[in-house]
Amino acid sequence: MLYRDGEPTSIACPGCAGVLSAFTEGREDFIRYVCTVGHSFSLPALLYAKEDQFEYLMWAVISVLAHLEMGYRDLLERGYVDVAVATRQDVETRIEKVRTYAQLLRELIEADRPPASEAGEIESGAV
Ligand SMILES: [Zn+2]
Repeated sequence: MLYRDGEPTSIACPGCAGVLSAFTEGREDFIRYVCTVGHSFSLPALLYAKEDQFEYLMWAVISVLAHLEMGYRDLLERGYVDVAVATRQDVETRIEKVRTYAQLLRELIEADRPPASEAGEIESGAV
């Protein structure tokens, strides 16, 4: 996508989730993304940061799924299952689904190799 100089993008800053604006600095083959607080990224650095953010969030989801499994197991072990809301079988089925989702996500992360994995370092600071 080609942006006019200083045009806001729809991409959130990986550092603060603020709006990134695009700057070409007079070169059509170059683009710099800068957020409202001054985080600044070249295109390779932005891709690297977004890939890092993606991996972090995938692991965060796996963590939530692990916590759900632990909570549901506590529910079963402590006999909190209320048959009016969910049966023991419902809870056991949910535990299996949660375990399956976590395993699938783990396999996706471990198999994932983004092309931008060595794209560069993140720059920050005011422009
Ligand atoms: Zn920012």
